Amino acid sequence: MSVAIWWIRRDLRLRDNPALHAAQSFARGVIPVFIQDPFFDRSPMVSSRRLAFLADGLSKLDEELRLRGSYLVIRSGQLLDVLSDLVDQTGAERIFAEADYSPYARRRDRSLEDRLDFQLVGGPSLSHPRAVLKQDGSPYTVYSPYMRAWKATHLTGQVNLTDPPSKITTPPGISSDPARGNPDTAVEMDFVGGEQEAQRRLEAFTHGESPAIYRYAELRDRMDLDATSRLSPYLRFGMLSAGQAVQAAQGALQNAPDRDALKGVETWLNELIWREFYIAILYHFPQVSRVSFRENLRDIRWNNDPREFEAWGEGRTGYPVVDAAMRQLRNTGWMHNRARMIVASFLTKDLLIDWRWGERWFMQQLIDGDPAANNGGWQWTAGTGTDAAPYFRIFNPVLQSKKFDPGGDYIRRWVPELVRVPERYIHTPWEMPIDQQRSANCLLGEHYPLPIVDHSFARQRTLAAYKNAGQAVD
Ligand code: FAD
Repeated sequence: MSVAIWWIRRDLRLRDNPALHAAQSFARGVIPVFIQDPFFDRSPMVSSRRLAFLADGLSKLDEELRLRGSYLVIRSGQLLDVLSDLVDQTGAERIFAEADYSPYARRRDRSLEDRLDFQLVGGPSLSHPRAVLKQDGSPYTVYSPYMRAWKATHLTGQVNLTDPPSKITTPPGISSDPARGNPDTAVEMDFVGGEQEAQRRLEAFTHGESPAIYRYAELRDRMDLDATSRLSPYLRFGMLSAGQAVQAAQGALQNAPDRDALKGVETWLNELIWREFYIAILYHFPQVSRVSFRENLRDIRWNNDPREFEAWGEGRTGYPVVDAAMRQLRNTGWMHNRARMIVASFLTKDLLIDWRWGERWFMQQLIDGDPAANNGGWQWTAGTGTDAAPYFRIFNPVLQSKKFDPGGDYIRRWVPELVRVPERYIHTPWEMPIDQQRSANCLLGEHYPLPIVDHSFARQRTLAAYKNAGQAVD
């Protein structure tokens, strides 16, 4: 029997999986393999929660494979050794894998290409990053024109998906190593792994009587509501393909009952395109994983106070919205998008701490931690990125809090010390008179910290630091 290897990396699904499809078209037998790469044991960008979610996803994938007469093989070790051994043991003629465009993945794949019969198919985005380029062949570096070109390229008709196979033939008896990561932790995190769960979430968000996608434009920024899809971990590990998400949006667009609903779907689609945009940016400008995209902002004199960084990470800044968000992250491995922008702005602009410190911290915590989206989000907020908000646009954490958590429910949920603080002071507890502090059982400086920085002072300090950095190069 002819045999091929399906090397699973960030495509933990059977539906719409071009790499699996290509392996099945090439050979009668397919060996699904996941390799635990020692590179990630050393990387400072790994999170135990993300590993747990991955382990859960792998065990769900194994269940799905077994329903189709196959099973998952897990191996650990140096990639070339593991793959060469497997080829020797099974006589596999070719290895198929989904492309991955992050700098590490591209280096890894290049180093294997000469030594193995290895073919990349599909990828984490709807098409290759080179599929959407400017007329002169150069990459887009501004989101809005990229988004228009992306739509013109991809939305000419219904997105096509490949069906999941009903049967996968795998030679019996291929040994596996134990999976790393504890899948039980994934359940505690509110994110159960696997493509069934991804599909369920996608349908709940986009289908039915009045799905949340129709109110997405209106409510997506509200941190106190559950108004977004929460699909990011599934897209991160390919338990859901970009094509599946876009196709669901197209369906919702067709069924939209009114203008608001249409706007909701369009806005969600635009977020999926932000994801594609950042994948393309990291592909064309891999240096952004190390330095600012904007050359004139590579020499900012950061304040980088380790104690302030620690207070930020632990949710002890004295700014309730920042603390709520950072505790949500610590407790669940996920954070609302608006909250991500607020805490990233606070770290870089209020504390004047290097965005790379925050980027690393997020990667160590987030279940959906993704090199492209995370880097893009951090550089956008720091004002050092592509079409970044100009650096002088500095988020005011109090105004953001009042606007996007109006009743303070998000704050109270994650900062129990503030549960009894009246609505009037929930965004600014430092303004609370002492008798109110006593009755709310929240003495400032004792039960809850005073602000670690004054926003007006911080704003001026940041403006000066960015201006000086810009002048040093201009
Ligand atoms: P929805 O609002 O339902 O959006 C649908 C999908 O679109 C998301 O699942 C995600 O895949 C994609 N998406 C949405 N917004 C963005 C965006 N701004 N950039 C890129 N893709 C987007 N997203 C990650 O997936 N991984 C990260 O590591 C990550 N780090 C971030 C760091 C910062 C500082 C910021 C500001 C944003 C970051 N984001 C990251 C983007 C965004 O916050 C999350 O994708 C979103 O909160 C996930 O929630 P959701 O699935 O409910 O999204």
